[in-house]
Formats: sequence, structure tokens, C-alpha cells
Amino acid sequence: MKIGFIGLGIMGKPMAKNLLRAGYEVIVPDRRAKKNVAEVVACGAQAVESNMAVGRQADVLITMLPNSPDVKEALFGEDGAAKTLRAGAVVLDCSSINPIASREIAAALEKQGVDMLDCPVSGGEPKAVDGTLAFMVGGKQEVFDRCRPILEKMGSSVVLCGDVGAGNVTKLCNQTIVAVNIAALAEALQMGQMCGVEPEKIFEAIRGGLAGSTVMNAKAPMMMDQNFKPGFRIDLHIKDLGNVVDAAKTVDAPIPLTQTVLEMMKVLHHDGDGSCDHSALLKYYQKLTGETLHR
Ligand code: NAD
Repeated sequence: MKIGFIGLGIMGKPMAKNLLRAGYEVIVPDRRAKKNVAEVVACGAQAVESNMAVGRQADVLITMLPNSPDVKEALFGEDGAAKTLRAGAVVLDCSSINPIASREIAAALEKQGVDMLDCPVSGGEPKAVDGTLAFMVGGKQEVFDRCRPILEKMGSSVVLCGDVGAGNVTKLCNQTIVAVNIAALAEALQMGQMCGVEPEKIFEAIRGGLAGSTVMNAKAPMMMDQNFKPGFRIDLHIKDLGNVVDAAKTVDAPIPLTQTVLEMMKVLHHDGDGSCDHSALLKYYQKLTGETLHR
């Protein structure tokens, strides 16, 4: 089976490498991210001159791109891979995009006899490298059953959440929960320190109780160390929360917490912190109070 792979960025490069390690033939376009292309070619991938050339050979086409317009461009643009995909091929879009766009893309592909699963991931670069990503999948059961073994080479959890779009709806839920959690953690640690208690003691005392979380364990140490090296960048989280706003609007869902954290992230973006890890939400509070969190 030949797998085309478009989007060899932070996430796509290690994912493609895991497919090669599992013995799949992987074909990549060589126009962008040339250093990463060279790395996957060194691991056995075949580089071709364009997205269209990838589409021509692919039985399964994986896309791992920043946002909805990028996926539409890579599939249907001037050099769109979908133009050369044969009927019976499958597109696995692993990008985190607007679920409405996922449904539009799937409908356009269906017209040419191509199935699609939207299968965004959580886990970040370390889990992409380890092959332990969590896939949230939307699409037909039969297509899911056929493609599951491929996803399992890149992830340790693969869950079909519903029809096309359900993967990205689930991912948006994930991104809201993570963003609001990080903001709550930053707000509480900053307030606690200002009230005279060491943040480290607060963390130690509450991490095992109901307030404890994966977010707390990962992000509290980063906040206390003022270590905002990404991880997951504020700018990507702004993109995801923007998609939450768009999706919520279509069904009139109330999202006051998401809106608030999105505004906080936008302030940080305008202050030049967009490339920081999302734990830098703490900076929002530090700027307001003039006080820096410490260990
Ligand atoms: P990235 O910016 O590192 O990589 C994107 C790649 O796509 C780049 O190499 C770019 O050159 C390429 N690209 C863009 N448009 C293209 C086109 N038209 N044709 C061919 N290639 C094109 O992004 P990333 O961090 O790998 O994230 C990819 C997706 O995964 C995003 O939707 C992101 O939200 C999601 N995600 C990221 C993380 C993370 O920790 N980085 C975690 C979970 C999910």
C-alpha cells in the first residue's frame, strides 16, 4: 500500500517516519520543508515533485497541515493532490481544522469516489515521535476499520467519534478544556502567591485531589520556572479556539469561557508571545500584576 504524506512539519515528519518504520511505502512532495523531506527520504520515503504527483500514486493520502485553508489548498488548489487521486483512495486528514471545513472537504472528495476520515490528534511532538498519539476520528465505520491499522502505527489510542467532522469537533472540545484549564491554573497560582503561599506548596498540596490534572502536572512546573519553550504555541491555540467560536456559532452553543481565554491569548499574541508555549497564559496575569511567579 502506498501512503502519500503532505505536511512534514513538527508533527508530520515523525508521523511519516513511524509509517516507514512500520514498512509502508511513503511518498512525499519535495516543494516545502526541504530539510524534513530530506530526513524522511533518508528513512526510505520517495520524494516527488508536487502534491499532484503524490496524489497520482497514493492509495491513502495523509494530510497534516496547519488549518482549513491549507488543507483545501493542498487538496484542491493549483497543485491539489485530490485532482489526481483515483476513485477508491482514502484521505486521512490529521490536521486540527474547522469541522465544517472537514465536512465540505469530505463532500467534495465523495464526488470523485474518494472517502475521507478527519482524524486530528492530541499528544504533541513527543507522542508523534513515540507513535503514541491519540486520534479522534470522524467518518464511516467501514473506512475507519480499513484505516485503523495505519493510524495505530502513529498512535496508541484511535477512537471513532461519529460521522465526518466528529473528529475535529472532539479535538475542539479537547482544545477548549486544555485552554481553560491552563488559564485557571495560571490564575490560581498567581493569586495564591500574591496571598503569600509558595506556588510549589500549592501544587504539591492539591495535585493529588480533584483539582489535579495532566495539565497541572505538565504546566505548573513550566510556569514556576518561567519556561515557555513550546510545546504547543499560543498562535496554534488561537487558531483552534477561533475554530471553536466558528463551530459554536453554527449551533448557537454558549462558550463564554473559550471566548475569554481566546481574548487573553490574543493579548499575548499582540505582545509578541505568540510563539511561546500556551503555558505562557501565565504572562497575562504577570503583566497585570507586575509580579512574577516563582518556585
Ligand atoms: P507545522 O507548521 O510544523 O507543519 C505544517 C507543515 O505543512 C509545514 O511543513 C508546511 O510547509 C506544510 N504545508 C503547509 N501548506 C502546505 C501545502 N499547501 N502543501 C504542502 N505542504 C504544506 O505544524 P504542526 O505543528 O506539525 O501542526 C500540524 C497540525 O497538527 C495543526 O493543525 C496543529 O494544530 C496540529 N497539532 C499540533 C500539535 C503540536 O504540538 N505541534 C499537537 C497536536 C495537533
